[in-house]
Amino acid sequence: MNLYEFEGKELFAAFGIPVPRGSVVREPEEARAAFNTIGGRVVVKAQALSGKRGKAGAIRFCESKEAAERAARELLVMRLGGQPVIAVRVEEALEIAREHYLSITYDTMAKQPVLIYSASGGMDIEEVAESEIVRVPLDIRERSVPAGLLPRQVHVIAQALWQCFLETDARQVEVNPLAELADGRLVAADAKIALDDDAFFRHKEWEDYEERSLMGRELTERETAVKAIDEGEGYYRGTAGKYIEMDGDIAVLFSGGGASIANMDALIQHGLKPANYTEYSGNPPREKVAALARIVLSKPGLRGLWIAGGVANFTNVAETFQGIIDALDEVKPAYPIVVRRAGPFEQEGMELMRACAARNSLRMTLFGKEVPMGETAAELAKQVNR
Ligand code: GDP
Ligand code: MN
Repeated sequence: MNLYEFEGKELFAAFGIPVPRGSVVREPEEARAAFNTIGGRVVVKAQALSGKRGKAGAIRFCESKEAAERAARELLVMRLGGQPVIAVRVEEALEIAREHYLSITYDTMAKQPVLIYSASGGMDIEEVAESEIVRVPLDIRERSVPAGLLPRQVHVIAQALWQCFLETDARQVEVNPLAELADGRLVAADAKIALDDDAFFRHKEWEDYEERSLMGRELTERETAVKAIDEGEGYYRGTAGKYIEMDGDIAVLFSGGGASIANMDALIQHGLKPANYTEYSGNPPREKVAALARIVLSKPGLRGLWIAGGVANFTNVAETFQGIIDALDEVKPAYPIVVRRAGPFEQEGMELMRACAARNSLRMTLFGKEVPMGETAAELAKQVNR
């Protein structure tokens, strides 16, 4: 889950990282009081789950409360990179002498966190010359950042940022710019934090964060319900919590991330419109898949169901099918159902599907690995349009 800048700054402050004084404003009129509290030049910053606000004109400097209100009024109705602006943060305008860059994220090659620092910040780190970047691999068993690799002041902030990363179960924390003021103090002028969704079960406090989605709209009822499937469990096995609602009428239940994207294309190429995007993976247990399938099938107006996946390596096809079957036994859809799947326990899985189709008189067609996935979309299209 990505955090808004103001949420990131709240966390930074809690870990002792200096942030500009300021407050969150949701109505333009409130910007006046916020301006008065700061007493001087302010910067009004749009809060949206999108970067590059500076370039988009969503960071405004204001010298009066009238100007602050006007800026808030304009920013609050903006969208940035498809994302709504849900609030603005009115904060003291800093006198920035120099912009640094500091972040911690996972290095997927080294398979450990890495701290990235550059004295040339403000811009995207991708645009900074490699020679100006310091990378410090971090060991999650150590609470401290190795000494002697960063300027002394930066090291102090880096140390706090590392605590923040570890204790909040972040996937990424980024301070860009880390502003150096004229007197040498360092202040986090921006905050970007991505939390690790898989750590939800040990962070009750995350429930207080308002709902958000990267789709730039509120979650639908079914999306919210699916999200809950993987949350809060005491164990971890497989995911069945991915569901994006779309405006078509063909329900899909995909397994595996890559193939499922190709499947969406195949579906559309054959003139069908997906009712949803869904994907379960990592060998989830029957109950999780059943919960997911029930929600997928609950969408009104469906005209077909496509259950598709590649050749699984270790996902138990029979077990996951059993979850889908639990839902089919309840819903007993009248529309055509096309299944394409292979992998461990595929024979047993197909047998279970056949039995389910027979006892519920379902219009079901089964395919194994001998037929390419995309072709089975053509079969579904034929049946739906019959
Ligand atoms: P982003 O564009 O979404 O990453 O938003 P930032 O919060 O990083 O702001 C973009 C740029 O605006 C920064 O790199 C700074 O140059 C500038 N900026 C932001 N806050 C302040 C501030 O308080 N004072 C000054 N002088 N510049 C600021
Ligand atoms: Mn920034």
